[in-house]
Order: sequence, then structure tokens, then C-alpha cells
Amino acid sequence: MELKKVFVTKPSLASLDTFKEMLEPAWESGILTHNGPLVQRFESELEDLYEVDHLAVVTNGTLAIQLAIRALNLKGEIITPAFTWIATASAIKWEGCIPVFVDVESDTYNIDPNKIEASIMKDTVAICAVHVFSNPCNVEAIEKIADKHNLKVIYDGAHASNVEYKGVNILEYGDISTVSFHATKLLNSGEGGACVSKSEELISRIKRLRFFGYDGQGEIVDEGCNGKMTEVHAALGLVNIPLVEEVIEHRKQIYSSYRERLENIESIGFQKINKESYNFSYMPITLNSEETLLKVIAELNKEGIYPRRYFYPSLNQVESLKDKSCHVPNSESLASRIICLPSHNNVDEDTIQKISDIITRTVSS
Ligand SMILES: *Cc1c(COP(=O)(O)O)cnc(C)c1O
Repeated sequence: MELKKVFVTKPSLASLDTFKEMLEPAWESGILTHNGPLVQRFESELEDLYEVDHLAVVTNGTLAIQLAIRALNLKGEIITPAFTWIATASAIKWEGCIPVFVDVESDTYNIDPNKIEASIMKDTVAICAVHVFSNPCNVEAIEKIADKHNLKVIYDGAHASNVEYKGVNILEYGDISTVSFHATKLLNSGEGGACVSKSEELISRIKRLRFFGYDGQGEIVDEGCNGKMTEVHAALGLVNIPLVEEVIEHRKQIYSSYRERLENIESIGFQKINKESYNFSYMPITLNSEETLLKVIAELNKEGIYPRRYFYPSLNQVESLKDKSCHVPNSESLASRIICLPSHNNVDEDTIQKISDIITRTVSS
């Protein structure tokens, strides 16, 4: 019998018919891109969904970070956590800035505000923090440090769709926040991303930058690139928006089921979260060592189950970003021991039980 494979993520998708229907006007009009009606509608529905005033969609979440850096005219060092996806740091580098890695808190997995100030030098221009697995950073402490040292703040909110923090959407914080609509993210448009800001001026600039630097009147007024989202991607995002609440509810159940089964095992750790400000899009657990982690992965793989080492490695250990001077023990330790377990629409209770049994058996052997 062929083993049913279970991967770490699987996109939550509306029906193909709904998607086709959404695409029909694009087929009739022949408008496939260029800030078309579907992109404009996607932006407006996202503004409603997140309850934010100014948002610009772009081709992906990585470019969203790059455009945020551009729009803020940042040149110099940008403080960022070592425990994040490579895109946070590569976006900084592609914009000609230098990522300076700061350690994360061992419980929240987010950048440790107490360690930021020691890394602020004369060339430091900004902090680019990450809401890891949608867990909000200590935004108050970060804002305080940024104000004191006159730094800009960007939040990489790639994971943080639909997260409310103290009554407002988490994407409202910082000078600019970004989000990703990649296929593996909570809300997806295949590929896609957005920048959010309280500043209308910054979002207008990002809209120019994503369109070769053109203003709305046919004049080139800025040094831009091509960051336009297509109508096809916007259509996919639009049909997936109505599913989001349901997806969060389902993932929350999956999260609870795993936790119930794994919580009593002493060597297994969980991210410190506040359930009110979390979208449950990932199911991260930590093991006591990399050796155990590799054993657990091997045992799960034997059963056709593919968890993912996310994030691995700690970015200071990536060849192109190697930074021997930084001291990030929590990030290095976490990256060596963390895996994300399968958490998506096709993960049922039996699968959760099976995965939990394999983990329990392996860590106690
Ligand atoms: C996915 C992700 C990104 C990049 O988003 P893309 O849309 O894939 O370009 C950036 N940062 C983090 C933390 C991510 O997980």
C-alpha cells in the first residue's frame, strides 16, 4: 500500500470554480496586470480585513521588505534577528544595507529588545524585527529604543496575517510592516506580499517604486523596479480571503490537539504565545538537542511525514551572511532544535495522534 504523504504545509484554497469566476472579467477585458481592477479590489479588501488605512500589494513578501527599505531611504546597518527566514536578511543585503544580527528571546523566539542597544553603532539606521510564527514582538520596547536612537522600524510580518495586538492589527506598528501571501502562508495568493503603513505618503511612494518609479500621470519621478502584482494573483488572494477565519479556527484546533498530546513530555518545548494574538499558522516544537531532532525527523519520514526545520540554520551561520563577531546563542540553539509539524487542512486527528506517538516514542527511547 502506498503511504499517504503528509507535508508540513498545504495551501488553503477556495474552489477552482470560484477562482475561475473571479478571473472572468480579466479574461474579458484583457487586463492582466498594471494595477488592474482585481489588484485594486484586493488592496481594498485587505485594508478592510486588517482594518488598516494604507496598504500596497507587491509581487512577494521579500520584495515588500526591500521596498520598505527603499521607501525609507535606508543606507547603513539594519538590526535584525538571526532567527528568521533568510529573506529578512537577504532583502536587507539586496538593498545595499548590512544586516546586524541580534539574538532572540529563548521563549518568544522574537528579537530580544534588551540586546538591541549594544548593537547600535554610528551607521545603524533601522531595526527590522520579525513577528516569528505570527507572535507579536515587544513592539513597545522596540519603539522606545528606535525613538531614543532615531532609528526607523520595519516589521517583517510575513507570518502575521490577521493578528490583533492590543486592539489594533499588528501590521499597524513600525514605520512600515510587511506581510507575505506566499502559498505556504496563512492567506495566500500563490506568490504575493504587501506593505502596510500609517503614512499615506510612504505607501504612495511604494506604489510608485513598484511601478518603475512612475507617478500616476506618466512621469518618472522615482528610481523604481517592477514589483506589480498580477490580476491572476490578486484573484487568487481575493477568493481566499473569505476562508481565512475558518482556516485560523481549524489551525487553532490542530495546535491544541498537538499540545494536549505533547505538553507533558518534559523535553519538548513550545513557543511562549498569547492565544489572543496569534494566528496558529505554524506548529513549532523544540526538542532537547539536534541529535534528538534528527532522530524524530527520520522516524517521521519513515511514515511519510515531513516536518520542516524552520528556521534553520541561524542566519549568522549562512555562508553568504557569515558573521563571526555576533553572539547569538539563543538563535543558534533554537535553530538546531526546532521543527514545525504538519498543520493544514488535511491534517486530521488520526494524523496528529500518529505524529505525536512517533515523537513521544522517539524522544523517550
Ligand atoms: C515567507 C517569509 C518571507 C518572504 O516572503 P515571500 O512572499 O516568500 O517572499 C519573509 N520573511 C519571513 C519570516 C518569511 O517566513
